[in-house]
Amino acid sequence: MTNVAQTRGDSTGSEATEFDALVVGAGFSGLYQLHALRDRLGLTVQVLEAADGVGGTWYWNRYPGARCDSESHSYCFSFSEELINDWEWSERYPAQPEVMRYLNFVADRLDLKRDIRFHTKVVAAEYDEARNRWLVTTEAGAHLSATYLITAVGCLSAANIPDFPGLDRFEGDWHHTGLWPHEGVDFAGKRVIQIGTGSTGIQAAPVIAETAEHLTVLQRTPNYSVPAQNAPLTDEFRRHVKATYPEIRRVMRSTPNGHAFTIADRSAFDVTPEEREAIYEAAWAKGGLQFRASFRDVLVNKEANDTAAEFVKKKIREIVKDPATAEQLANIDHPYAGKRPPIDTNYFETFNRDNVTLVDVRTDPIEEITATGVRLRSGAEHVADIIVFATGFDAMTGTLLKMGIRGRDGLTLEQAWEAGPRNYLGLQVPGFPNLFTVTGPGSPSVLCNMPVPIEQHVEWIADCIAHLRQHGIDRIEPEAAAADDWVEQVNRAARATLLSEVEHSWYLGANVPGKPRVFMPYAGGMARYRAICDEVAANGYSGFALR
Ligand code: NAP
Repeated sequence: MTNVAQTRGDSTGSEATEFDALVVGAGFSGLYQLHALRDRLGLTVQVLEAADGVGGTWYWNRYPGARCDSESHSYCFSFSEELINDWEWSERYPAQPEVMRYLNFVADRLDLKRDIRFHTKVVAAEYDEARNRWLVTTEAGAHLSATYLITAVGCLSAANIPDFPGLDRFEGDWHHTGLWPHEGVDFAGKRVIQIGTGSTGIQAAPVIAETAEHLTVLQRTPNYSVPAQNAPLTDEFRRHVKATYPEIRRVMRSTPNGHAFTIADRSAFDVTPEEREAIYEAAWAKGGLQFRASFRDVLVNKEANDTAAEFVKKKIREIVKDPATAEQLANIDHPYAGKRPPIDTNYFETFNRDNVTLVDVRTDPIEEITATGVRLRSGAEHVADIIVFATGFDAMTGTLLKMGIRGRDGLTLEQAWEAGPRNYLGLQVPGFPNLFTVTGPGSPSVLCNMPVPIEQHVEWIADCIAHLRQHGIDRIEPEAAAADDWVEQVNRAARATLLSEVEHSWYLGANVPGKPRVFMPYAGGMARYRAICDEVAANGYSGFALR
């Protein structure tokens, strides 16, 4: 294993300005990309990270109840036996602090932190064609350059704070869940308003309600949720995972969504209504995203989907005691899992508490934030000492577009993506040579258990760079026709599922006013995507111009 930075005696690399590769972001993607390029290829690499620690999305999302929706044994790196054997998860779904401990364990074990520049936010990245280098400027005014620029900025890292009039006049505290204070927020004795009932809001509300004097949940779109059934892991399960890890890894790599469970090979209509009900009951009792895998056609056939949707709605009505509140929660207008399906711990049960109120802001939208709370269009006012914005993210493109990226001939990424993200395989953009986007739009990413697409992307990028260097190729850039064809494939894959039928999902960018409505993730499945990428590489990087 060669390590150029190590042999040169660099400590943090903080004085060097010229690198083979610059990686932006020190979450799962950035950490592994650094390891792959530095320790496997021997490149000089610097990771630039805005935060003061590793963790990426887990560094910022410290909101109450923050917990991974993927099972812990599948939510980790699979490339190293040592990392697998030397780490023990404590729960079925790891909470945010445990994921942070894991990522620090990885960074320390692989000695990654010495090549990460923390507190370093990228504000511009420009391609210098004459030198074939990316020139990167940081917020502090530092200038660095590299042959390869790799964005590892995550898909959900630009907080979406709706532009409600009056927020500046609010006399209490307010926080977005994705920018949560490290010291935590004390809700004891406080009246809290939570805006948003996506995966985040569904995790946060039950925990906030435990200590707040009162919690008012403002719900625009009612949402499905299935119990996580989280629990501590038994030693027996942990031993089983270690003993059978190759098989678990094989399953994760063969399924469309990278989870460690398979999708049942039966239609919802291959069984009797009674059998179907029993299958859903068992899946509900088992908990987690496996519920979606009960039948192979839940995501592609509306009638099959209706059976899952009706089952969850029935459960909501059974759990929530007040019929009017139950109806408000169960009045869901989109297919089950048509938006990212949340899983929860006591979400619907929370509305049985005396200190929790549900308010519908779909029929009566938020008009403004006042000094003391939130006023709705009808004039109804809800008071708060603290407002929690669980309002999601400018997903997949938001952070990339804020980085000041300019390609050949000064073309900005905003210009290139004016009508929506246009790239090839979610990995490279025409006009931006040697720029790679880990889990960019057009990749399966957010539709999967994230470490699986991340590992695939990082390894594909590292193999690609190794190929370029072995063959004396200076630059790689997708052909325009290949990008257009990929955008069409992404659209086609979405149309084959019920996901594209949901008009107001962040998959489509519909949660951010003015954002082009383009279905962003590749819905054709991770296994298929991997095969496509492998074939492209095996064919000498077909669809890419190599110079
Ligand atoms: P989200 O799914 O986009 O949900 C945002 C919520 O805020 C929605 O209920 C939305 O309503 C509401 N909202 C936004 N703007 C609003 C406005 N102007 N007025 C009223 N309500 C408004 O965001 P999220 O819950 O943070 O989740 C984002 C993604 O992060 C998830 O889908 C998932 O991929 C990931 N995530 C993962 C985990 C995990 O693995 N543990 C946990 C949390 C999040 P509408 O639905 O009507 O737009």
